[in-house]
Amino acid sequence: MEGYPTPEINYLRMSVTDRCNLRCFYCTYWQDWEKLAAAEILRYEELLRIAGVAARLGIRKIRITGGEPLVRRGLPKFIRSLRRIPGIDEICLTTNGTLLAELAPALFEAGLRRLNVSLDTLIPGRYLQITGRDNLADVLRGLECAAALGFHSIKINCVVLKGINDDELLDLALLARDHPLQVRFIELMPTASPREWKRRFLPAAEVRRRLRALGELAEMASSVTSGPARIFKVQGFVGEVGFISPMSEHRCGSCNRLRLTAQGRLRPCLLAEDEIDIKEAMRRGCADPELASLFREAMQSKHRGGASAGESRAAAHPSMAAIGG
Ligand code: SAM
Repeated sequence: MEGYPTPEINYLRMSVTDRCNLRCFYCTYWQDWEKLAAAEILRYEELLRIAGVAARLGIRKIRITGGEPLVRRGLPKFIRSLRRIPGIDEICLTTNGTLLAELAPALFEAGLRRLNVSLDTLIPGRYLQITGRDNLADVLRGLECAAALGFHSIKINCVVLKGINDDELLDLALLARDHPLQVRFIELMPTASPREWKRRFLPAAEVRRRLRALGELAEMASSVTSGPARIFKVQGFVGEVGFISPMSEHRCGSCNRLRLTAQGRLRPCLLAEDEIDIKEAMRRGCADPELASLFREAMQSKHRGGASAGESRAAAHPSMAAIGG
């Protein structure tokens, strides 16, 4: 696309389950949610085969997400196998952290080091209001446990919700003052309810403006696999703060990722509905070159989609539990 840079696509987000033990009101329209039949979800062997093909096409970083990935049994063993795939240099896990204290030792032992933990509030009653579950203490315990084991990096994903947690933005950012964490503020997307989105959306620029009360924010250069997040250093902070703004700031030009849904569909863009069914191809016995050509198709359609995908943002309401954020 003219005037639109096409970054290398080197990052695959793999959703390993559609199940989740939380019910965050903004994530999915839970009333209509029906879990996939177990046979519909990609098996670990299938995920490993896909990762191998993807690595040969230039994927260097894999993020494991869900649903909640830690509710799927056998994840540490899967991570250990993923690490053996030549070309995959970086494996990260996005989790709600509720089961982290229990599973962190096995994950660490399997070689995982990078974690993104979702945490929108530090107030127990609010945590219950947002997620429908009373698990804040478990998440905090999980974070402590992960830090003590030596996980690095640890990033906190915080969805900003006007009128719910926007009075806590400074407290959440301050976690990065005292700990080597990156606290990332994510703009709310209209994935569950467009009406709630209108009430609760707060643009990243406003969050940055408020955070300046903590000191000047100095933007850091992004790395080749970091994608559309903007990361800032605040003077005196051990960690950093970051902003992911899918709604207000067009960063499609720096998006380097593909997504694989739990039921085996490759999704070039979170905000566009196109998907390529690779599970169907695998289960009818396709060979690796065919799988690779489906991947190339997704990569090329991403480059073609570029800016227009961003323009469809208001219309597309994907379910985050299905796609993995
Ligand atoms: N269960 C894991 C977790 O909680 O991190 C992984 C899946 S979750 C869908 C991935 C991320 O998407 C979480 O950080 C979550 O807060 C974010 N997310 C879900 N719905 C969102 C929305 N409507 N707008 C912005 N972020 C959203």
